[in-house]
Amino acid sequence: MMRVVVIGAGPAGMAAAHAAAGAGVPVLLIDSEAKLGGQYHRQSATDGTEKFALPDGVEYWAESVVWAIEPIAGGHRVHVSTGPADGPGRVSRSVNTAALVLATGAHDRALPFPGWDLPGVVTAGAAQALAKGQGVAIGQRVLLSGTGPFLLPVAASLVDVGARVEAVLEANTVLTGWLRPGEESATTEPRRGGRHTARALAERDTTSRQPGKLADWSRQLSGAVTSPGKAAELAGYLGLLARQRIPYRSRQAVIAAHGDDRVEAATVAKLDVNWRVVPGSQRDVEVDAVCVGFGFTPQLELATAVGCAVADGFVTVDISQATSVAGVFAAGELTGIGGAVLSEHEGTVAGTAAAIALGARVKRPSKALRHIRTGRRFAAAMAAAYPVRSGWQSWLSDDTLVCRCEEVSCRELRSAVDEHRADGVRAVKLVSRAGLGRCQGRICGRNVAELAGLPEPGSAFARRPIAVPIRLAELAEADSPQAKPAELADSPETDSREGTA
Ligand SMILES: Cc1cc2nc3c(=O)[nH]c(=O)nc-3n(C[C@H](O)[C@H](O)[C@H](O)COP(=O)(O)OP(=O)(O)OC[C@H]3O[C@@H](n4cnc5c(N)ncnc54)[C@H](O)[C@@H]3O)c2cc1C
Repeated sequence: MMRVVVIGAGPAGMAAAHAAAGAGVPVLLIDSEAKLGGQYHRQSATDGTEKFALPDGVEYWAESVVWAIEPIAGGHRVHVSTGPADGPGRVSRSVNTAALVLATGAHDRALPFPGWDLPGVVTAGAAQALAKGQGVAIGQRVLLSGTGPFLLPVAASLVDVGARVEAVLEANTVLTGWLRPGEESATTEPRRGGRHTARALAERDTTSRQPGKLADWSRQLSGAVTSPGKAAELAGYLGLLARQRIPYRSRQAVIAAHGDDRVEAATVAKLDVNWRVVPGSQRDVEVDAVCVGFGFTPQLELATAVGCAVADGFVTVDISQATSVAGVFAAGELTGIGGAVLSEHEGTVAGTAAAIALGARVKRPSKALRHIRTGRRFAAAMAAAYPVRSGWQSWLSDDTLVCRCEEVSCRELRSAVDEHRADGVRAVKLVSRAGLGRCQGRICGRNVAELAGLPEPGSAFARRPIAVPIRLAELAEADSPQAKPAELADSPETDSREGTA
């Protein structure tokens, strides 16, 4: 029987694999990490344990990166490279399928500011991955700056590994994304007089830096949060901030980092509603690490290569998580940022639908469908409450690097765009080199698109036939006669070993 191929073993991909296997269809689950779990359930890479079990019928390829997908008659051919990234002896394989589930998740967004290219300035996700995966603290004195509730678990992970978190700086107003959808958002005028308005919370936040006040917020918010699970999670984080005496400051951000060989201090400033610096509010704080996280960017490369329709930067799906391409389903943060639980339910629906596409007869996953409806409302509230506002562009000086891989400064980007009247992502890349380096625009793409005033969204940087960096030898193998695409029903998998060059 043909297999469902699931790419990504985070909450969405694991749930998809469980659902398809539960429907009696064999599954191949592929992930670039050494262990199951994705971002939310990231496991220690060093302790030799495995938290998750996969059901019978699921084959798992760990440390396997999908670098391309191409259409073949009746389905798709998935090209995979297995082995430590950039290590010797990687194995190249490809597999054909008529039912593909994309669950590649997202990565966190960094905004540039003077000094963001200094060692010691990292994304909040990278700091968390280091803490959770390796048990290592990114620094001893750390500032967290960005927007959204994701800053809270990162603070918790840093505390767990012994770092001192100097402050959590939220560029929007405090914690409003945890409120019920439609209750309040930073984009709407807060309801006056209500106990849970964004303004009331912001006022409490900026007028007091006493950790004790966090407990007040926690009490106020507990009735307003969408689900009991979220309330408990939020209360847990607020308790931790209070116990550790970590200030949580809204409408503030790190706007510059300083140091010779690595970050030694950061300039923190108050922001107005559009994130422009409030004059005279800047102050320097001594730190040895700065972690920045301004929301998430979905990993769209594979979905874009397959030809899935994308709207507002996310893959569009129907009620069964089917994309615009026949036989291709998408789940999790690829389709919208809504947290691990929503991702899991979407994975269940996608896996079930993929199994049905291969002929399985199963019941409609009603519970998951119900949870998706509420989860998406919560996701919409989060997106409205934690936007990235354009004032961040005023933090940059002419010399600030915008693209770190190709070392393109703000001045160089703007003058290349003006001089050549570049009005699209491809043109901007060619005239400025921004987005042409190793990260291929994953880090800088959205920022470059906004700074250059492009009509195309930053997600257009994800358009490329090869999704991740691979060696020329791997590319050559994929084109060898042994690896030529078979018809879908024939020889679904090819296998060849790469040289160690
Ligand atoms: C760095 C980071 C840390 C986060 N930490 C938290 C947290 O602490 N708490 C919280 O509530 N939310 C957190 N989130 C949000 C969280 O990602 C989601 O809520 C949830 O994990 C999304 O599930 P997912 O299955 O869609 O994607 P993910 O969990 O991101 O899983 C996607 C998987 O796909 C794999 N993958 C991607 N591309 C390829 C490819 N080409 N080939 C093979 N495998 C591939 C990745 O290795 C990854 O394992 C974090 C997000 C990020 C980016």
